[in-house]
Amino acid sequence: MNKKSCHKFKKKKLAGDEHYRNVCQLCGYIDYGSPQVVAGSIVTYKNKFLLCKRGIHPGYGLWTLPSGFVEKNESVEMGAMREAKEEAFIKIKIKNIFGVYSIKKRNIIQIIFLSRISSSFCKPGIESLDVKLFKYSEIPWKKLAFPSVKWALKRFKDYKKGKKLPFLGND
Ligand SMILES: [Zn+2]
Repeated sequence: MNKKSCHKFKKKKLAGDEHYRNVCQLCGYIDYGSPQVVAGSIVTYKNKFLLCKRGIHPGYGLWTLPSGFVEKNESVEMGAMREAKEEAFIKIKIKNIFGVYSIKKRNIIQIIFLSRISSSFCKPGIESLDVKLFKYSEIPWKKLAFPSVKWALKRFKDYKKGKKLPFLGND
């Protein structure tokens, strides 16, 4: 049965579960409403940070880390690599898990890697207005798209001071 077209949800409390869930009366599918995973990267090149100026809402015209929703049958790192390619035409090399940031209000879990590029070449993809490498002192703090972007870039300084990865944060 096609799951997308059949669902007719009813709230049900399942055995061993404390909460009511939306259970499809036709196919039995349970919609837990679990968070979606966003994969992104702090991308560095010679002490500079690659940021993308968003050409889509939310955060249109503001700067962000290359990131996006992980797709079906994709690993988190594959998602981060694909997004970096789509948004900035760069081939990132993932070095570490930098942090995990939970955005409770938007039901999103963001996994942020520490990645590198081996050349300064980048150009905006279809969802970006611009892409640019910034020195840390040049980061446009007032024009960052999301709290998680600011959080990650601030934590980078802690990381440089010797704090251990990964960082954990939430909104
Ligand atoms: Zn169904």
